[in-house]
Amino acid sequence: MAEPAPASTTARGPASASPETLPPAAAGGTTQAAVVRKTAPKSDYKPADVSPQRRVQRRYSVRLWSVRHSRGLEWLYARFADLFLALHPLWKAVGYARAEAPVKFVEKRVKGFLFDCRMCGQCVLSSTGMSCPMNCPKQLRNGPCGGVRANGHCEVEPDMPCVWVKAWEGSRNMVHADAILAVQKPVDQSLRETSAWLRVTALAAAARGKEAA
Ligand code: SF4
Repeated sequence: MAEPAPASTTARGPASASPETLPPAAAGGTTQAAVVRKTAPKSDYKPADVSPQRRVQRRYSVRLWSVRHSRGLEWLYARFADLFLALHPLWKAVGYARAEAPVKFVEKRVKGFLFDCRMCGQCVLSSTGMSCPMNCPKQLRNGPCGGVRANGHCEVEPDMPCVWVKAWEGSRNMVHADAILAVQKPVDQSLRETSAWLRVTALAAAARGKEAA
């Protein structure tokens, strides 16, 4: 993956507008999202859970905290992965399939709280500065689109900091900072709502077994 360029160089459209050229409401206290909301055509239909209103109301404080503490979380995640691998005999005895439901229950809540995880089942947080790329409205896995705003926010959700701008910032603090440069495979949708923790553990156990043979 090419190094994500600074927002100002990748941005187009609204990103190139200086504060003076923004509509007065967007440049002042009112957010662009509020302007968009006000001018949106009125109808009785509201999409469940994806309305811009709901998204605007969301706060990103915990997600951003995780990015700011990416180094500590990287260390913690590595220890956690070691622990899960050490427990491989237990997972095997119980059966990975049977262990999936309880592990997924915990994983979904912990990662949902810390990263707004969408349970894609193929976690790349350790390569993306602890910023989950599945929160990108375009679900880009290899860097930002060309629409990052001048303030580093998303062009689709103006109140949300671009997950890839944050990923780059978070990755700079990590020991494996350049892991972000690795090209990610397209998302395998068949792994949605499955436990990435167990999948990674089973893969690591298989690799360890191969090495030992
Ligand atoms: S990359 Fe996938 S598994 Fe990892 S936090 Fe994001 S949605 Fe969850």
